[in-house]
Amino acid sequence: MVSDDEVLHNAVSGGRWWRFDRYVVDQGVIRAAPGAAAFQYEPWSMYEQARRRRGGASRGQPAPYQELLQLGARLEEIEYERFEALPRRLEKLVLAWCRRNGLLGLLPHGLVMAASPEGETASNGNEVWSWAEWHAGGRLRGRSAVPRSTRQQAVADRTKSPPATVRRSLMEVLPQEGGVLIRPVQDHGHLVQPYTAEWARYFPAGSSLAAPRAADLDMEGEGFWRDYGEPVYDFMRCILLMYWSFLSITAPEEMAKREGGAYPTLAQSGYYELNELASVTSLSGYLSDSRARGVRWASPSLIGHYGVMMLTDLAGGNRVRVCDHCGAPFLSAAYRASYCSLQCRSAARKRRQREGHAGT
Ligand SMILES: [Zn+2]
Repeated sequence: MVSDDEVLHNAVSGGRWWRFDRYVVDQGVIRAAPGAAAFQYEPWSMYEQARRRRGGASRGQPAPYQELLQLGARLEEIEYERFEALPRRLEKLVLAWCRRNGLLGLLPHGLVMAASPEGETASNGNEVWSWAEWHAGGRLRGRSAVPRSTRQQAVADRTKSPPATVRRSLMEVLPQEGGVLIRPVQDHGHLVQPYTAEWARYFPAGSSLAAPRAADLDMEGEGFWRDYGEPVYDFMRCILLMYWSFLSITAPEEMAKREGGAYPTLAQSGYYELNELASVTSLSGYLSDSRARGVRWASPSLIGHYGVMMLTDLAGGNRVRVCDHCGAPFLSAAYRASYCSLQCRSAARKRRQREGHAGT
């Protein structure tokens, strides 16, 4: 167990994830409902628990990412254009998924650096510019606010000698209008984006973080996650990306019907995507209260956690199955598993009973 102190100060980069008990779709963005209760949980404890059960007597406990694959199988039915206005029953499924798992972490997933616009006025009246930077695993690398004159001096120095690092030259570019250096989920490059273009998509008008000071940004805390939301469109795209990547590796023939192509190219591209998604994670060592040394995965996004879990299970000698009920692929150590979860097993039983009843 970890101490409450660690929970408070190191939620996300300590391997935990935030979820709320109610979510809504507001202006095309999925976010916690006003006044919803916040919880932290550990995706990896759930994974370990499921893995022990999957190998043991009470089979049928799916890995945490299995529900995402189920959702992917359902979302596949819809055209991209309809993502903005989801059919009611799918919106209900998505919100229920968020209640159990939280949001995906699309913004933190790719956030490398955020910088406030030059000329921002600090609470003490001084004009400053501020910045924050993150490592893999969501660990804060540093944040700072410096007086404007210091920055101007730095730029002046630069004319004498070229910037020593990419980081330094970015620190000069970003503050012009305030912005972020980001690696978007669906894009394998880095982008420098103004706050107005990028940030506003995750923090709709009226949010207290709509125009944050970079130096105050805290992606670990409840406040951030209470204000933060994910555009429905981006959320769906990410679910499908993970679903299709997994399908390309586990069932390339199925994937070939949708996209064309063939094994091994499809499987390789599936691995390429999953490796990319998992690359935001980092191993994080810690000391417990009783001074036991531990290590666990930290990730700025649920996407990263799921990526590592999928890669681990794919390498685990598991068999690939397709669920007889929901149609999602799943991995199982059991020789003859037919359903991805107990939930699908019982839903299928109920359906059989209904159909049997209707037939008599
Ligand atoms: Zn299923």
